[in-house]
Amino acid sequence: MPTDIKSLSRDELETQFKGWNESVYRVTQLLTWLYSRRVTSWDAMTNLPKALRAKLADAFLLQTLELVRKQGAHDTTQKFLWRLRDHALIESVLIPANPALYGDASDRHTLCISTQVGCAYGCKFCASGLDGWKRNLTPDEIVEQVLAVEREVTSDKWHVTGKPVLSHVTRHVSRAVDNVVVMGMGEPLANYENLLKALRILNAPWGGGIGARKITISTSGLAPQIRRLGGEPEQFRLAISLHGATDEVRNKIMPVNRRYPLKELVVACEDYQGQKGRMLTFEYILIAGINDSVEQARPLAALAKRLFAKVNLIPYNKVEGLSWERPEEKVCESFLAVLKKQKVPATLRREKGGDIDAACGQLRLKTERELTST
Ligand code: SAH
Ligand code: SF4
Repeated sequence: MPTDIKSLSRDELETQFKGWNESVYRVTQLLTWLYSRRVTSWDAMTNLPKALRAKLADAFLLQTLELVRKQGAHDTTQKFLWRLRDHALIESVLIPANPALYGDASDRHTLCISTQVGCAYGCKFCASGLDGWKRNLTPDEIVEQVLAVEREVTSDKWHVTGKPVLSHVTRHVSRAVDNVVVMGMGEPLANYENLLKALRILNAPWGGGIGARKITISTSGLAPQIRRLGGEPEQFRLAISLHGATDEVRNKIMPVNRRYPLKELVVACEDYQGQKGRMLTFEYILIAGINDSVEQARPLAALAKRLFAKVNLIPYNKVEGLSWERPEEKVCESFLAVLKKQKVPATLRREKGGDIDAACGQLRLKTERELTST
């Protein structure tokens, strides 16, 4: 099976073009078609000689994601369900910038992307792991989520016509996604090589052009890979899905904690910070009766202080078929108050978790179940 062209770095493309005796400036032209114009066919690359296009088509795939379902509206959270070439389903979620938070009601967006089909880590509360792990996404499948969403939401239709729409001639091509969070389906650090390759393409000035500090990787706590990430040159941000500040709670809901208990996870985070000197974020889902008591907030505050971490509290989104519930609002507020009192930087996601805001993995699960029941 040939590789997709969007799995290759600029260096790899240059080596290939040299091998073909093609000039290197053709690589720049190709990259512009792929990442600025976001075209979906070789034929659209009109300034590349036909013979070169034929060579490229022979050697590489140029795949796009097929949109199966879209939920949500232009100015709210939008969920995209994609079908891959082997018919597997994955999700991406586009979240508009919150004007109240950023003072900017513009077209800025954060995209939440997936890195695997399913997940092997089986956290007890999560829809993504319910049917187990199927496969890793390739770098191009990770990168293409950004491009495909931008094709859907921007008004320039280069990829369709090969010609600029008048109003966009001077503005260059619009970028709809300026923040990426790797918090969709799958455990990103369990697909380390492909993840890093994809993030480097999204980060590169010749690729997605998204700043490393605007890319956040979320992990359930794979200690060795956290250390390895600390040694990479890029300044990607890191979020730890903690959900429990004691082994007792984490063991109950996250099987990964038996492999890498808190003590080991904390040391890996310290190593990471030793290399990067950067602040971490703890993601903490509040689940009624499991981790939402004030007694749990205290050890969480202690851990956050030790690691200079900011805490994002997220009331649990109900998953069909699972019995976990979100706590009442006042319970969430009291939990937040304990952290604040301890001077831990913390936020509580307060918007009502409408259908669309439900965590990643749920639209896919629903669709797969509907498909298999028909
Ligand atoms: N595997 C990685 C990234 C994907 S999960 C990780 O676990 O960090 C992204 C985030 O969504 C994690 O913090 C995860 O715990 C959270 N999540 C999963 N199911 C959820 C649910 N039903 N409600 C709220 N958050 C959920
Ligand atoms: Fe996998 Fe993350 Fe879901 Fe856990 S929370 S099952 S690691 S996707």
